[in-house]
Amino acid sequence: MRFNDAPVAIVRQLVHNGFEAYIVGGAVRDMLLEKQPKDYDITTNATPEEVRRVFGRRKCRLIGKRFRLALVFWDGETYEVSTFRKEPNHIERRGRPTDKGEMIWNDNVFGTLEDDVRRRDFTANALYYDVNTDEIIDMINGMEDIKTRVVRCIGAPATRFMEDPVRMLRALKLVGQHQFTMRENIRKAIVEKAPHIQEASPARLFEELQKILNTDSALPIFEACQENGFLKYFCPMLSTLWETPGGELIRALLKQHDDCIDHEKNYFKEKSLPMSLMALPYLLSVIDMDEVSRHVNVVANQDACAKAIHTFFLTFNMPKEMLYDIRDIVMLLPEMAALHNLDKVRNNPVYPLAYEVFRLLTMANGWMADAFAELPLPNDVSQWQEQATREIEEDSLQTQQPKRPRRRRRPAKRKKTAAETPAQPTNDSLDSTDNE
Ligand code: ATP
Ligand code: MG
Repeated sequence: MRFNDAPVAIVRQLVHNGFEAYIVGGAVRDMLLEKQPKDYDITTNATPEEVRRVFGRRKCRLIGKRFRLALVFWDGETYEVSTFRKEPNHIERRGRPTDKGEMIWNDNVFGTLEDDVRRRDFTANALYYDVNTDEIIDMINGMEDIKTRVVRCIGAPATRFMEDPVRMLRALKLVGQHQFTMRENIRKAIVEKAPHIQEASPARLFEELQKILNTDSALPIFEACQENGFLKYFCPMLSTLWETPGGELIRALLKQHDDCIDHEKNYFKEKSLPMSLMALPYLLSVIDMDEVSRHVNVVANQDACAKAIHTFFLTFNMPKEMLYDIRDIVMLLPEMAALHNLDKVRNNPVYPLAYEVFRLLTMANGWMADAFAELPLPNDVSQWQEQATREIEEDSLQTQQPKRPRRRRRPAKRKKTAAETPAQPTNDSLDSTDNE
């Protein structure tokens, strides 16, 4: 097994200072699945304050309230170092006067490695890699479950999902992203407890949504959510649209986006892009495309679009800046489709994102490929995007001939240097209680 140098160095430094420390969770799981981990979680018996003493204030910052942990900065990357946790007891977990003590509002009770295993969500996520011995500590038969790709709860599923409803989404991510199958008791518990996802904080749900859209598997993850009756509580509008023609387009767009994340190293990192894709058919249905392209009732259409974004993402409490970015992207599309005001459109700060939405629409269902071919390239277009654009233009030329002579409005070409490429745009006992 070969992990990146930085997390290994962090673990070594903790061990050198007399602490126990391991790489844990998704990174170990991904490595066993022969996928390169994209983030590393480190766990230790050092308290967050002790971790800060080991790395110093410049290289370490403490964060979190519900889950306090240390961030360690190493080689330009940030690593989460969490202290072994124990499942809080009934009194410790009580968060609100009205709460029955099922939900974990505060997960800051430190414990031993054995305690830490039992508070994790699934067996596949509870493996600890010891960098000194090159061995995996597996107390819950997680290696076998990874081999057979089975989602198994640590503890009784219904109880675990009531403690933290986000765990249901994490199970569905294993299904969608890593092709795991759920044991029937977990599936039943999700169907039963899905409405409780709405008790998780909107900020946390928004973070989860962003993480899903950052993977190359957003479509299969949403599919798993929909198939198991979860999507209608997590993102109700998306679930309602799922089987309609609009939903079909959303799925095609998400597929394109997943492929881009998978293949393009420097693909956009702005989450307003995939969020625009998720809501696009709905947002385009509330604005009057014709009015927008002719600059009539612009404010009314802008307001209608902003309200529709708010409604679509109601469960997430989306930050205003992102809402306005999505609105601005969507509002550019009618003008781009009508090839109106292109000089002005091109100078809009969200034009590169709107251009990419248009490109994905063209790829997903051939939407207005001929109009797309007339659009000016954004100034900071990357080389792969330029290549992809050329391919769409060539396709459109072949399928649309004979055609009027083509007008290109490309900005003056300028070769990009590498530096200029865009910024990367518990608890019951184990296993046996799994059968409720
Ligand atoms: P990813 O590839 O998305 O990072 P991950 O499993 O590593 O997947 P993280 O959010 O990084 O997800 O969490 C790291 C580890 O912390 C998990 O593998 C799991 O052991 C534990 N964990 C995370 N969230 C929960 C939760 N809600 N309940 C119990 N354990 C959790
Ligand atoms: Mg992780």
